[in-house]
Amino acid sequence: MNIRDVEDQHEVDVYPRRDVVLVRGYGSKLYDENGKEYIDCASNIGVSLLGHGNPIIAQTLHDQYLTLANCYSMFYNDIRAKLVEKLASIAPSGLSRVFLCNSGTEAVEAALKFARSTTGKNRTGIVCAIRGFHGKTMGSLAATWDPKYHEPFLPMLQGFTHIPFNNIEKLQEAVMENTSAVLLEVVQGEGGVRVGDKQFFQEVRRLCTERGILLIIDEVQTGFGRTGTLWACEQYVTPDILCCAKAIAGGVPMGAVLCSDKIHVPKRSHTSTFGGNPLACAAALASINIIQRERLPARAATLGEYLQKNLKEINSPRIKEIRGLGLMIGIELQEKADPYVKMLMDKGIIVLMAGPNMIRLLPPLVITKEEIDTVIHALNEVLC
Ligand code: PLP
Repeated sequence: MNIRDVEDQHEVDVYPRRDVVLVRGYGSKLYDENGKEYIDCASNIGVSLLGHGNPIIAQTLHDQYLTLANCYSMFYNDIRAKLVEKLASIAPSGLSRVFLCNSGTEAVEAALKFARSTTGKNRTGIVCAIRGFHGKTMGSLAATWDPKYHEPFLPMLQGFTHIPFNNIEKLQEAVMENTSAVLLEVVQGEGGVRVGDKQFFQEVRRLCTERGILLIIDEVQTGFGRTGTLWACEQYVTPDILCCAKAIAGGVPMGAVLCSDKIHVPKRSHTSTFGGNPLACAAALASINIIQRERLPARAATLGEYLQKNLKEINSPRIKEIRGLGLMIGIELQEKADPYVKMLMDKGIIVLMAGPNMIRLLPPLVITKEEIDTVIHALNEVLC
C-alpha cells in the first residue's frame, strides 16, 4: 500500500501536503515510515504541548474509556464536574462558567453566539482584526480575516468588521451602537506570529467596558502555557469570554469557552453531542495537572527567550525579523519560506509556516535545550 496514494485518492483534497508519512511520536520527536527521526517544532499546530506519547495521558484515556467514555451533558458526570471546577479555578479572574466542545472553531462559534445572545438582538456586530484567524466554519470563517478563505463561500455571515491589529483609533471608528463583541488573539498565530501591543489591549478593554461590548480573546493557539504564562491574556487584559482548544487535553480533541456569569445563553440554544465527554475531560484534567506540576508555562518563557536570543544572533541577510512570545516564534524572511522548510525537513526538523515568508516554531513545551540547540544549528546552516 502506498500511503500517499491512498490518502490522495480518498481524502477531500483540502490540505497542502508535505512529502512525508509520519507514523510515530515520542516526546518532542516524530518518526516517519522509514524510521527517520524529526524534532517536532510544530506540535500539530500547537496541540502537543506535552509532546507525543505521554504515558500519563495514555493511562488516563485507557482507564476512563473502560469507566465511561461518553455521557451527554443532559446527565451530570463526575469527571466533567472535576474538569469544569479545575478550568474555573485556573481561568482569568471572573470567568467561572465553562462550555465544553471539541475544537477551536467550535469554541469560537459558541463564543460568538454567547456574545450575541448576551448583548441582545439589536447588537449583531463583531469587530475582529486584519490577519486574525479564528477557524473555518461559517461563523468563525467570517471572523477570520484572510479573503482567500472567504472567496469560495461568499456571501459571508454579516456583521463582521476587520481593523488593523494594534490600532486603537481604527477600533474606535469600527465600534458602533450595534457592536456586540470585539474578538482578538493576543498573539496572532496563523496571521504571522504578530505580538499584541499591551497598551492597545488595555485601551480595547477600557472601550469595551465603557460601551457594554464583550471582549472575546481567542486563546486557541496561545492557551495553556505556550506564550510563557498559562493564558497569554494574563500578560494583557482580562476578557469577558475566552476561547481555548488545541492543547487543552493532551492531544485529544476538545475545545472550551470560559466566560463570566454575565453571559446569558438560553437553554438548548447551543449544545454539542460530544462536548464534555468524560474521555476528553479526563485527558484535559490530566494534561492541565501535568502543565501545572511541570511548570510548563515558565519553561516556555525561559526556553522561548533562549531560542529567540539565539535566533537573533544568526547573521543572515535572508532574515527580516524574529518575533514571538514564549515558545511561539516566527522567523520572517525576506523571501519565500517553503524552500527552507523543506531543507529543515531534510535535516530532521519539522517547522510550520505562517504566511509565505514566515517560518513558525511551535515546539512542544517539553522540548529539551539540546533539541533547541540542534534546531538553532540547523536554522543557521540553512539560512546562512
Ligand atoms: N483560533 C485560533 C487562534 C487558531 O489558531 C485556530 C487554529 O489554528 C482556530 C481558532 C481554529 O481551531 P480548529 O482548527 O481546532 O478549529
